[in-house]
Amino acid sequence: MALFRFKALEEQFSREVIEVAAPKERPSDYYGINVFDKPKMQKYLSKEIFEKITDAIETSTHIDRKIADQVAAGMKAWAIERGATHYTHWFHPLTDTTAEKHDAFLDVSPTGDKFENFDGDKLVQQEPDASSLPSGGIRNTFEARGYTAWDPSSPAFIVGKTLCIPTIFISYTGEALDYKTPLLRSLAALDKAATETCQLFDKDVKKVIATLGWEQEYFLIDEAIYKARPDLMLTDRTLMGHASAKDQQLEDHYFGSIPERVNEFMREFEIEAFKLGIPVKTRHNEVAPNQFECAPVFEEANLANDHNLLVMDVMRRVGRKHKFRVLFHEKPFKGVNGSAKHNNWSMATDTGVNLLKPGNKPKTNMQFLTFLVNTVKAVHINADLLRASIVSAGNEYRLGAHEAPPAIISVFLGRQLSAMLDDLEKRVSEKPMTPDEKTALKLDIGKIPEILLDNTDRNRTSPFAFTGNRFEFRAVGASGNSASPMIALNTAVAKQLKDFNLEVEELSSTGVKKDEAILQVLRKYIIESKAVRFEGNGYSQEWKEEAERRGLTNITDVPDALKSYKAEKYVKLFEEMSVLSPREMHARYEVRIEKYKKKLQIESRVLADLAINHIVPTAIKYQTLLIENVKGMKEIFSEQEFKDLASARLELIKEISNHISQIKFQSEAMRMARKNANELPECEEKVAAYAHQVKPYFEEIRYHIDKLERVVDDELWPLPKYREILFAH
Ligand code: ADP
Ligand code: MG
Repeated sequence: MALFRFKALEEQFSREVIEVAAPKERPSDYYGINVFDKPKMQKYLSKEIFEKITDAIETSTHIDRKIADQVAAGMKAWAIERGATHYTHWFHPLTDTTAEKHDAFLDVSPTGDKFENFDGDKLVQQEPDASSLPSGGIRNTFEARGYTAWDPSSPAFIVGKTLCIPTIFISYTGEALDYKTPLLRSLAALDKAATETCQLFDKDVKKVIATLGWEQEYFLIDEAIYKARPDLMLTDRTLMGHASAKDQQLEDHYFGSIPERVNEFMREFEIEAFKLGIPVKTRHNEVAPNQFECAPVFEEANLANDHNLLVMDVMRRVGRKHKFRVLFHEKPFKGVNGSAKHNNWSMATDTGVNLLKPGNKPKTNMQFLTFLVNTVKAVHINADLLRASIVSAGNEYRLGAHEAPPAIISVFLGRQLSAMLDDLEKRVSEKPMTPDEKTALKLDIGKIPEILLDNTDRNRTSPFAFTGNRFEFRAVGASGNSASPMIALNTAVAKQLKDFNLEVEELSSTGVKKDEAILQVLRKYIIESKAVRFEGNGYSQEWKEEAERRGLTNITDVPDALKSYKAEKYVKLFEEMSVLSPREMHARYEVRIEKYKKKLQIESRVLADLAINHIVPTAIKYQTLLIENVKGMKEIFSEQEFKDLASARLELIKEISNHISQIKFQSEAMRMARKNANELPECEEKVAAYAHQVKPYFEEIRYHIDKLERVVDDELWPLPKYREILFAH
C-alpha cells in the first residue's frame, strides 16, 4: 500500500500523546493493591476466619458455608472501599480467553430499599448463562445449566470497577467445562504421587506443588495498519504478504533497544500487572521485528496460569490505549519468527525444595535424579499426549518451521546430565553393589551441582529442555491457555511417579535396600526412555530421520495429533489419575477439532474475500494501465521499435493475467472444497476435509497474490505490506 495512504490512515487514528498513569510511588508500594491477598485477608477478616481460610487453601480442604459468608463479607468491604461496583465469577471456558458475567453489588428491594448484596452463596457458586460456550456435547440444551464455583487457591482481584473471583466452570452433572477444573485435579494428582516419592528421601515433606514460569511472546502492530488488514483483524494472522526486503536477517532487533512508544506501552501494562500482584520481571525484544516478550517470576502453576491469562487481557487493553494491537497468534507473518509461550515447569515441596534443582548432598541429588528421570520417562511415554496438548491451527504454522521445535517431542538434558545418566546406566546393576562401589557412586552423584554450574549449553531447538533447575516446554503456542499442556504434563508425571513409588516398594519388599531399589528402578527407566533424549539440532532433517529410527512419532497433522485425546491409552491415564473422565476427554476432543475446523473455515473465507474483492480488482486496474500504455506505444513507435520496447510490458501483462486467472480459479475450487467438507455428516470427516482439501489452497492462492504484490504499482496495492506492518512503531 502506498505510503501516503498509510500516513493518512495513521492521522485518522491520530496518535495522541499518551499519559501513562505512572504512580509516583515505587512498585513495591502499589504491588498487589488490586488483589485480595493474605495481607488484605488479615485486615478484613477476623483472626479465626483468616486462619481457617488460609489453612483450607494450603491443605486444599473444603470451605464451609459459614466461613464463605465471612470471607465474602470481607472481600466485599475491601472491594467497595477500592471503588468496585460489580463482581463477577471469572473462569476459563474452552476458548482461548477468559469469561465473566458482571453483577452489581447494589440491589434494590421491591420496596425500594437499597442494599449491597454479596454473600457466601454468591461467592461460592453462580449459574452464568453461558450456554454458547463450547462444551463438546456435554451440555445438551435440556441440561444447559453450568455452574461456576469459587477457586480459593487463586485470590480475587479487581479490574476496573469489578471484583473478579477466579472460579471453575462445571456442568449441571459435575463435568468440567473449563481448563481450570482439570488443571486443579492434575495438580492434586501430582501432589499425591510426588509427596509420596519425596517421602522416600525426606519424611517432612507433606505437599508438592507444580511451579510455572511462562514467557509470553507477542507482536505489537500499529492500530492504523492493523485496521487496514482485514486478515489480521479477522484471523489474527496475515493470509498474504510478500516478505519484506529487510526482516530479521540482521538479527538486530533481538535484545536491541526498545522503541519509545513500545516502552511506554510496556511500562503501563507492567504497572497494571504489578497492581494485580503479577510479578512480571523481564521484558525484551524478540527475534522478529515488532516482536517482544514478557516473563514473570514463576509461581504455583494454577496461580501462574491465571496470571498469564490476566496479563494477556491487560496487554490487550493497555495496547489499545497506546494505539497498538497485541497479536498473540503463533505465526502472524510468513517467513518471520512466530510466537511461543515457553512453559518453565518444575515441582517444589512445602519444605522449600525445588525438586528439579540439584542439591549439594548425595541424598538431595538422588531425589533430584529421581524427579528428573521420572519426568524424562513421562515425556517419553506420553509424547503424543503432550503434542496433542499444544497443537492448534496457529501453532501448526510455527512448529516445524525453521525457528521452532519440530513436531517430534524429545528431551534435552545437556551434556553433563546426559553423561551422568549414561554413567548410572553402566554402573548400577541388579547385583548388590559393594560398599566401595556405593561410596564412589554417591560421591559422583554428589558432584552434580558442580558439573551443572558450567553446563552452559542451552539447546534452543528442543521442544522440552532442561535448563538447570526446571524443564522448559518450548512447543507451547503463544495464544492458548497454558493449562492444556500443564494438565498433560502434571498428569503424565503424576502417573509416572505413582508407578515409580510402586516399583520401588515392590523391590524393597523383596529385601533390596531402599537406596539400591531406587537406583535400580531409575536405571531401568533411563534405559527405557533413552530414545526420547536428544542433544543435537532439533531443526535438522537428520533428526527427523534419526527420530524415526528411534521409534519416536512425528505427527505434523493437527487432526491426527488431536486423536490422542481419544486414544485408549490416554483416556485410561486421565481416568486413573482422576483428572478427566472418558466423557470429559471426549468432549475436549470434540471442542478442539471443532475449533480447528472453524479457524480454517474463517481463514478460507477471509482469504477468498480479500483475493476476489481486493487483490483481483487491483491487479486488473494495473493491468489495464499497462494495456493502455502498450496501446499508446503501438501508436507512436514503428513496428520494429514497438516489438523491441513493448515485449517486457507484454510479458508483464501476461504474467498478471495468469496470476489473476489462477487466483480466481483456485478461489472457486477452494469454495467448492469447503462446500463438500460442510456437507460431510461427521465432524471428524469435516475436519479432515478442511485440513486436507481446503487448507492446501491457502498457500497456492497466496503464492499468486504475493507474486502480484511484487509487480503491481505500490500506490494501487490495497493492503499494508510486511515492511509497513513490521517496521512501524
Ligand atoms: P530464558 O528466556 O532464558 O528462557 P527467562 O528469564 O526469560 O529465561 O524466563 C525464565 C522463566 O523461568 C522465568 O519465568 C522464571 O521465573 C522461570 N523459572 C525459574 N525457575 C523456575 C522453576 N523452578 N519453576 C518454574 N519456572 C521457573
Ligand atoms: Mg525461555
